[in-house]
Amino acid sequence: QAKDAGRDTHRFYNPAMQAAMEQRAALEDGLRRALAQDELRVHYQPQVDEHGVLMGAEALLRWQPPDRPMVSPGAFIPVAEATGLIVPIGHWVLDTVCARLSEWARHPTLGRLQVAVNISARQFRQPDFVDQVRETIGRHGIDATRLKFELTESVVLDDVDQVIHTMGALKALGLAFSIDDFGTGYSSLAYLKRLPLDQLKIDQGFVFGIPDDADDCAIARAVIALGHSLRLQVIAEGVETPAQRAFLARHGCLAYQGYLFGAPGPAEALEALAYAG
Ligand code: C2E
Ligand code: MG
Ligand code: MG
Ligand code: MG
Repeated sequence: QAKDAGRDTHRFYNPAMQAAMEQRAALEDGLRRALAQDELRVHYQPQVDEHGVLMGAEALLRWQPPDRPMVSPGAFIPVAEATGLIVPIGHWVLDTVCARLSEWARHPTLGRLQVAVNISARQFRQPDFVDQVRETIGRHGIDATRLKFELTESVVLDDVDQVIHTMGALKALGLAFSIDDFGTGYSSLAYLKRLPLDQLKIDQGFVFGIPDDADDCAIARAVIALGHSLRLQVIAEGVETPAQRAFLARHGCLAYQGYLFGAPGPAEALEALAYAG
C-alpha cells in the first residue's frame, strides 16, 4: 500500500474518502461533457399572482445525460461551484434564457413574463460578470426588465460594497433582483436594507410546515412582514397545497411558485400555459 501511495499521491487510505473523490471527479468530467455536448436543459416553473395569473417563471437547470436518468441540480451545482464550472454553465443558462425571451418578446402574453435566473456566488463575483450580462442581453436584443436574478444570502455575505456596486450596474441595465431561500442564510438585516432588491423569496422549507407547524407559520409571517417593510414583493416557493396558499395570502404574500401551480417543465409547457391563460 505504501508503494501505491508513493506512485499516486492522489490516493487516499480512507476508502470512503477515496470513493467520494472518484465520484466527484466523474461528476466533473460528466459536467464538462454535458456543456460541450449539449446535454444541459433549462426548465421553467410558473410563478403566479394572487389571482393565479401567470406572471413569470423561474429558470431551473437540468442535466439529461444521453442514456441515464436526469440529474437534478442539487447533485451537480455544488461540484460545478467547487470546480468553477458554474461560470461557463451559468453563462450558458443566461444565454439560453435570453434566446427564449427574444422568441417570446412579441407575443402578447409571453412577452410580458419575467424570468428569474439563479446566479451562484462564484458567477456573480467574476470581474467581467456585468459585461457578460450586458453583451448577452444586447446580442439577443431583449428588454432587460424581463430578467430577474435570484441571489442567495451567500452571495450577499461576500463583500457587501462590491455586491451593491455590481447589483447597481445591473439594475441600471433594467434587471430586477430577488433574494432566494430567504431565512436559511445569515444575512444581516442591516445589509439587506442596503441592497437594491425587488423581491424576497420565502424558502420552501418554511412553506412546507404551513399551516400545521406553528414555528413555520410564525417565520413565514415574519418574513412577509419584513419584506413588506423593506417595500419588496414577497413570493413563496414550494407552495403545494391550497391551505398553504390561503395562509400566505391571508398574511399578505401575493405571489407563488410551487407544484400547486405547476412543476418545472420545458419551455413548451410554459408556452401552453400562457396560451391557455
Ligand atoms: P431554488 O432556486 O430554491 O429552486 C427551487 C427548487 O424547488 C427547485 O429544485 C424546484 O424544482 C423545487 N420545487 C419547485 N416547486 C416545488 C414544490 O412545490 N415542492 C417542492 N418540494 N419543491 C419544489 P431544483 O430544480 O432541483 O433546483 C434546486 C436548486 O438548484 C435551486 O434551488 C437552485 O438553488 C439551484 N439551481 C437550479 N438551476 C440553477 C442555475 O441555473 N444556476 C444556479 N447557480 N443554481 C441553480
Ligand atoms: Mg431559485
Ligand atoms: Mg429558492
Ligand atoms: Mg429553495
